[in-house]
Amino acid sequence: MKTYEKSQKLNNVCYDIRGPVMDEANRMIAQGMEILKLNIGNPAPFGFHTSEKLIKQMSENLTNTEGYSDSKGIMQAREAIVKYCKKKGIENITVDDVYTGNGVSELITMSMQGLLDYGDEILVPSPDYPLWTASVTLAGGTAVHYICDEQSEWYPDIEDMRSKITDKTKGIVVINPNNPTGALYPKEVLEQIVELAREHELILFADEIYDRLVMDGEEHIALASLAPDLLTLSFNGMSKSHLIAGYRCGWMCLCGNKEQAKGYVEGLNLLSSMRLCSNVPAQSVIDLVLTDEELTKEMLVPGGRIYEQREYVYKALNDIPGVSAVKPKAAFYIFPKLDKKKFNLKDDEQFALDFLKEKKVLLTHGGGFHWEEPDHFRVVYLPEVEVLKKAVEGLGDFLSYYRQ
Ligand code: PLP
Repeated sequence: MKTYEKSQKLNNVCYDIRGPVMDEANRMIAQGMEILKLNIGNPAPFGFHTSEKLIKQMSENLTNTEGYSDSKGIMQAREAIVKYCKKKGIENITVDDVYTGNGVSELITMSMQGLLDYGDEILVPSPDYPLWTASVTLAGGTAVHYICDEQSEWYPDIEDMRSKITDKTKGIVVINPNNPTGALYPKEVLEQIVELAREHELILFADEIYDRLVMDGEEHIALASLAPDLLTLSFNGMSKSHLIAGYRCGWMCLCGNKEQAKGYVEGLNLLSSMRLCSNVPAQSVIDLVLTDEELTKEMLVPGGRIYEQREYVYKALNDIPGVSAVKPKAAFYIFPKLDKKKFNLKDDEQFALDFLKEKKVLLTHGGGFHWEEPDHFRVVYLPEVEVLKKAVEGLGDFLSYYRQ
């Protein structure tokens, strides 16, 4: 019998957040069990509602959407994105430098497909949002991981980054605010990354999709605003800040030294037009999303859901013997550490699987984010405190007897 195998292009593509733990969760769900999913940053199932204003604007636009838009997106959306970038201190950007996409995901893949040849290297954080590593590999490149240091609030370790630059390195991916750690990088750290990129003429890829989900009165600094002389691609979108992941809407902006990138831009334009355009009705709310900051802010201050859920989960996890976690300042993730010795840990995926079977709670093991040691996991703290409480108490109970 003729069989069909997956493309060889996928052979080395590692996207470990699927795998045996997800398979087991799906099996349990099929058997009728209820699983609490703390594994994916999708706000909708946890009672976050799309604002009425957004729904109204999109429905009004549905009747006016005439079909495919320009492959980069509708003008009104791209103008709003340019205005937003300028407000964040990003210079030298016009509507021609903006590409809308069906989520940031599509644009991450496109940015790598348009650039890389076999052997090219991209510096990607560890832990990372794993689509970056997967997209680099799918495009024929090699993802070289630099360490983010838990001892220093999960900031990138600049010396480690420096030591991994070779003559094949083309760019550095910076995820700020960070998934999975929830870290927010200060200006001094960002400046050191920019300096390193400047020394080696590297492209900066700034994934800033959580830039409007910052707590504690802190301010997000756009990487591109510190690097007007370097080629920078900044990524942002609506999935997280406006809790509408299913609308599939994101954007990518090129700025800085575009002279350097004429060939790359040609590649990006080709790929952009090959998919015709991104979801047009979703693009029609970008201007609203970017001008009405109140839509998001109330969740992030004391009394707001994301803030209170963060406060609870941070304290409750740290109260479990053998668990420690750095307090996240942004997004809705926390990346706790397990005491490897105490639990005799050898395999973090096995830990997530055992916990799932026992307590019916789905977490993602640290390895899913290209974290090498088997001692971390990620919690998405989107559910209400009452729900989180059940999960964290379950974890405390599980870890009181669990040894690998
Ligand atoms: N970048 C980061 C850091 C993310 O965490 C995510 C989603 O979780 C994405 C990009 C992709 O977002 P979307 O494709 O929904 O815009």
